[in-house]
Amino acid sequence: MSARRVAAFVEDGARVRVIAPYLCEDLLDLVHAGDVAWHVRDYAGPSDLHGAWLVHTATGDRAVDRVVAADADAAHVWCVNATSAATTRAGVPARARVTTPDGTVTVAAHADGDPGLARTVRDGVEQLLATGRLDLRRHRARRGTGWVALVGGGPGADGLLTARGHELLRSADVVVLDRLAPRGLVARLPESVEVIDVGKTPGHHPIPQDRINELLVEQARLGRAVVRLKGGDPYVLGRGGEERLACEAAGIPVEVVPGVTSAVSVPAAAGIPVTHRGIARGFTVVTSHDEILALPSGTDHTLVLLMGVSRLRDTVALLVEHGRDPATPVAIVERGWTPTQRTTTGTLATIADLANEREVASPAVIVVGDVVRLAHAAVDAR
Ligand code: SAH
Repeated sequence: MSARRVAAFVEDGARVRVIAPYLCEDLLDLVHAGDVAWHVRDYAGPSDLHGAWLVHTATGDRAVDRVVAADADAAHVWCVNATSAATTRAGVPARARVTTPDGTVTVAAHADGDPGLARTVRDGVEQLLATGRLDLRRHRARRGTGWVALVGGGPGADGLLTARGHELLRSADVVVLDRLAPRGLVARLPESVEVIDVGKTPGHHPIPQDRINELLVEQARLGRAVVRLKGGDPYVLGRGGEERLACEAAGIPVEVVPGVTSAVSVPAAAGIPVTHRGIARGFTVVTSHDEILALPSGTDHTLVLLMGVSRLRDTVALLVEHGRDPATPVAIVERGWTPTQRTTTGTLATIADLANEREVASPAVIVVGDVVRLAHAAVDAR
């Protein structure tokens, strides 16, 4: 116990002198490291306390501890008496250092001689801070520059946002929202959080990317905590790299929080594994049909297309032209992880007409490859 205390004092920058005829291994390590001075003897009286700000008894002998405490009292030096809560004049709190998006916080709890209670309170506050449930927003106005976090929101289901994403969202002053970000979570934020919707719909770009980059920088310069909540993963066809570079160029602290990409998770929602032993060894994620020409064309490779609905007919024609079997299975999974998720399956030869008939619309993930045969049958029937 005393070794841990001493280590904590040393960590806080204290100069520590230990008076004891012998020491445990951990304390000896601190002595050998030069962090602690050791006087190899018993307590010799008030002169041992000379120059100290704080005395901590730990002799293991109540009578000696009491003498040390009394001497410290007489010399007006704070004393923690480890073996007698009643005579102790100072207490060492249960402490924790927590890193929050706003800086490091030290939590210290005292509970009137009940160290177990103090630890429980410390743990509780530590958790509130670590999870962002303690609202730090009010204290932020006084601080200088804010920060930006590019948070991957996952494919749309609340539960598929990372714990870190939830933490940052709870401490945000401003949330800059994508069309495919998990909007349910945003709706539950306190009213004081400003939500700026920069969502793009296909073929219609209300706010250009450069303007979004500027917006993030402007908001952070106002000293605000900015969460840029994006669909899926910020770095998968999401222009997260550009947003990060824009923040860095402006000297704004920026954190990138990965997300569950729709490229993998939306097929999964329909029961399709993008790789499967004996069926597909790898997968490629692309957007437009031009990129398809350079891809591995073996049947053991899955092709995942994002933003591919409007050009589906051209894309499948191109794939067949370049040697893919027209019987290759294809699935289109619309609105993955939402209550209206729908899967349409066919082949390279049939999928364009099927998509037309069923009025398939964006957002959807298109999967080309034999893994499509593993799709949940029940989803097909929807
Ligand atoms: N960064 C994102 C992708 C952005 S591109 C990610 O990692 O998921 C946008 C495309 O993602 C959409 O056109 C669609 O193809 C796909 N998409 C994203 N969320 C989807 C969802 N819930 N259901 C179906 N497709 C989705």
